[in-house]
Amino acid sequence: MATFGNLSDRLAETFKNLRTKGKLSAADVDGTVREIRRALLDADVALDVVKDFTGKVRERALGDEVSKALNPAQQVVRIVNEELVEILGGQQRRLEFAKKPPTIIMLAGLQGAGKTTLAGKLAKWLAKDGHTPVLVAADLQRPNAVTQLQVVGQQAGVAVFAPESGNGVGNPVQVARDGVKFAQQKMHDVVIVDTAGRLGVDADMMKQASDIRAAIGPDEVLFVIDAMIGQDAVATAKAFQDGVDFTGVVLTKLDGDARGGAALSVASITGRPIMFASTGESLDDFEPFHPDRMASRILD
Ligand code: GDP
Repeated sequence: MATFGNLSDRLAETFKNLRTKGKLSAADVDGTVREIRRALLDADVALDVVKDFTGKVRERALGDEVSKALNPAQQVVRIVNEELVEILGGQQRRLEFAKKPPTIIMLAGLQGAGKTTLAGKLAKWLAKDGHTPVLVAADLQRPNAVTQLQVVGQQAGVAVFAPESGNGVGNPVQVARDGVKFAQQKMHDVVIVDTAGRLGVDADMMKQASDIRAAIGPDEVLFVIDAMIGQDAVATAKAFQDGVDFTGVVLTKLDGDARGGAALSVASITGRPIMFASTGESLDDFEPFHPDRMASRILD
């Protein structure tokens, strides 16, 4: 994954140096942990997360599982891998479907994060799996957001519920409510509600998203975050957690070549799992997020 290319290279280099050693002294472990720490910080992983991570790696690397191992360097790599999986949320978390359809999925995040595109990706993915999703255009803020969702829906081959008023006019809370009603009437088993973002964290946006949440009682609220926004990722995620709260995270633009480490901090900082990854502009550039696979890719 391009986003983590540099981090991957740095860690590979660190482990290469480690492999040339037989038994590891405490100084070897400390040197390695220091290099890992620097690589993570340079990749924009949040300081608190890095401290916690390197503390755990160091403690385990100085313990019996490494000192008694035939190949200590390999054990250290294994420990780093395991702790990285933990940072990324541990087990994969799948979507939770409502016992009584429709399952309501609300998307929240800043403008440009990739919500509208994600709505199409998620719908296409669900449709492939036999679901009958409908997209609801409750972003009445961004000019053309409604039209964009209609285009995305057409590409994904799924229904779109849009306000008659069209782009930029109307009450988003009412549109979201009507969209859910529409889904119930037309027997759609999943409703994906696109909401308005702003360029930055904004009280009006949070209030609107939180009003929509209260009005439709979603089964999942997915916080969509652009992996390229760097250090702002942590503050943005916390603001959305306080303002709207969410049940899962979607990382977008993982195909970019900016340092994506901040996005890696989001699961750990918010305690919410990363559920999906978006890796391009096409509707098929999308996959469920597997913490263990991501860790392996980074450590490959
Ligand atoms: P919204 O404002 O949150 O609804 O964001 P959009 O869905 O309109 O996406 C903003 C821009 O990012 C669009 O040009 C999308 O094509 C692009 N985009 C969305 N997801 C990805 C992704 O995973 N990778 C890349 N490279 N571009 C993406």
